[in-house]
Formats: sequence, C-alpha cells, structure tokens
Amino acid sequence: MGFIVAVDGPAGSGKGTVTKRVGERERLIYIDTGAMYRCVTLYMLRNHIDIENMEKVKESLENIKIELKIEENKQKVYLNGEDVSLEIRTEKVNQFVSPVSKIAIVREKMTEEQRKMSQSQDIIMEGRDIGTVVFPNADVKIYLDATPEERAKRRLKQNIQNGMTEETYEQILESVKNRDYIDSHREIAPLKQAEDAIYIDSSDMTIQEVVNKICEIIQEKKNRK
Ligand code: C5P
Repeated sequence: MGFIVAVDGPAGSGKGTVTKRVGERERLIYIDTGAMYRCVTLYMLRNHIDIENMEKVKESLENIKIELKIEENKQKVYLNGEDVSLEIRTEKVNQFVSPVSKIAIVREKMTEEQRKMSQSQDIIMEGRDIGTVVFPNADVKIYLDATPEERAKRRLKQNIQNGMTEETYEQILESVKNRDYIDSHREIAPLKQAEDAIYIDSSDMTIQEVVNKICEIIQEKKNRK
C-alpha cells in the first residue's frame, strides 16, 4: 500500500480545492469520493430507481462504472463513459445525494472501489468517512471544517464560476445544513472526526494557508517514516 492522506469534512469546507492542490504539490493522486456518490445518485435519478427497493439498487450498482480523471488540470468525472462533471453538481443531485449515500450496499461498493485505488499508488482522498472507515490506518488524517455560513458563501462562488446561478445564498445554506445533518446522523459511516485526525478550521484562512498547513503536516510525517 502507498502513502495515504485522508481528508474529511462537511459540505463546502474547501476540501475539494485544497485537496487537489495538496495532491499536485505532494505528488499524490487526488480522489474525490463525493463525486462517486454523486454519480450513483445521478444514475438513480435518471433511471427513476426507487431507492427503497434494494433489489433495484443492487442491480443498478452492477451497471454503474465510475471513472475519475484529471484532464487539462481539471477533474473530470465519467459515468459509464459519459462526462457528467457538471451534472453531478446540480441542485437536484445535491438534494438526493445524502439519502442515496445512507444505503448500506451503496457504501460497501464505494468503499471497496476506494480501497482498490490505493493499492499501487500514493493518494490523497477526500470525503466523509475516509479516516474513520475507508482507511483507518491512513498516514495522515485531516478534518477540515468551517462555519456553515462561510461554506455556503464558498459554494455560491464556486457555482457562479461554473455558470450555475439557479440557487440563492439562502437556498445553498439550507441545503448545506440539511446535508450535514443527514451525513452526520446516519447509521453507517457517519461524518465525524477520526480520533487521530488533525482538526483545521478554515473559516478565516485562505486556500493557500490551508494548503501550506496540510503540506507541512505531510512533510513532517514523511520525515518521521
Ligand atoms: O463532497 P461532496 O459534497 O461532493 O459529497 C456529496 C455527498 O456524498 C455528501 O453530502 C455525502 O452524502 C456523500 N459522501 C459520503 N461519503 C463520502 C463522500 C461523500 O457519504 N466519503
């Protein structure tokens, strides 16, 4: 197994941007596990799958192939060969992703795929349960947090940059809080800080400051190895 950095935290804590940059600097393969759960959700929505029906959910999981790639410095997400990078970030998917992510067989399948990805490479993986469930023995664990208001502000800015302007600040704040609630109260692999994770509150920090701090932590760990 390679060197593993686990970054967990709530929606909009800056995990995505920060983790990608740290990955580039420290030569770690960047893996966004939220994108994987979003792909599953998009598939369920498009195919009108009743998520209470486990037979149907199981069958769907067998038909889903997810690929994460970096192209021209941007993360691209493919669902069965189709580029769905933008579609997985829409409000509709935001609304359904937490209920879909609660399903045991969905989590089992994603966790299995995530563990496979670490077999032959050094990785930095971001999500909700990476330091607690997927890689409890990760070399470095970070829990990245920020106030809900700051996180909603960041999401709004990111949406505008992606040309997605249908949601207001208030709607985003509501959706972020709702997702946090479901994610941290679910029975399996809830969002929580691993006991041995380093807590970083990024509310008053710039992206660069957070990146520098995580890179320092990684370097320290590598020097001790
Ligand atoms: O990170 P992002 O906000 O894109 O994640 C979308 C959703 O996917 C989360 O709200 C959560 O419900 C789910 N998720 C999860 N476990 C992970 C990553 C994401 O349950 N490791």
